[in-house]
Amino acid sequence: MKIFTTRAELTQYLSQLKVQGKSIGFVATMGALHKGHISLIGTARKENDLVVCSIFVNPTQFNDPKDLERYPRPVEKDIELLKSAKCDILFMPDVKEMYPGKEKWHIELGYLDTVLEAAHRPGHYQGVTQIVYKLFSVVRPHRAYFGQKDYQQVKVITAMVRKKRLKVAMIMCPIIRDTDGLAMSSRNVHLSESERKTALALSKALKTTAKNFKTHSLSDLGKQAKEFLNNVDGLELEYFEICNPDTLKPMRAKRGQAVALVAARVGKTRLIDNVLLSA
Ligand code: AMP
Repeated sequence: MKIFTTRAELTQYLSQLKVQGKSIGFVATMGALHKGHISLIGTARKENDLVVCSIFVNPTQFNDPKDLERYPRPVEKDIELLKSAKCDILFMPDVKEMYPGKEKWHIELGYLDTVLEAAHRPGHYQGVTQIVYKLFSVVRPHRAYFGQKDYQQVKVITAMVRKKRLKVAMIMCPIIRDTDGLAMSSRNVHLSESERKTALALSKALKTTAKNFKTHSLSDLGKQAKEFLNNVDGLELEYFEICNPDTLKPMRAKRGQAVALVAARVGKTRLIDNVLLSA
């Protein structure tokens, strides 16, 4: 696996490969890799000649400085995992490399940038689109792989790709869960044993919602999930919503697919999860 830390060196290396007609699949991460990330690498591996992965803990998408500070950074372990997953190229720049000076970034994302995660983490998607735009500009991938785990992020980046007319195919990959149902996340390492048990309520609520989707009304599904989650000791619910899977507007009447999205705090750790629902 080749490792690059500067944009210039990566651009130069990739340009030679592109001349040879190689297709490039790209997986953007913040490191502390787990099976969820590795599944994206695996899918990209199958569909492209070359896989590029980036590890960059992007400061502009953190609205909580403490969250940024305590974000796990096990670099050596990540490198080994990527080698075993047969990733071809790792890009791991430092903050100065990606943000050499002061800069302004704003992209109009409309409704998507006002609800759910956007409402609870102001500025988060401006930071996400800012860094993903930079990474796409360096890697210029044919295909980019993102996890359904961050469902709203997929929608936001897809909106950016359309708006900026980028030539990259967006591919959403399924959520990888631990055997107990907890969606894998780099932040799970912060959970104590008892917090981990508490956190299982998120996937449980989503599972029940999916199971009852055909038979219960939307308002009952929402009420039941919220009631269940609000009664879990040590869990502070931020939102539970059933939405249109494209617009993320609240679903008023069942039509085709929907998505249920949840966010909660367990101790100091903020967790998100979701499930696609079909009637
Ligand atoms: P992150 O390092 O958290 O920024 O995540 C990098 C990419 O991995 C994003 O596209 C995430 O949606 C994806 N990802 C994170 N956790 C999972 C998971 N449990 N299953 C599938 N994809 C995931």
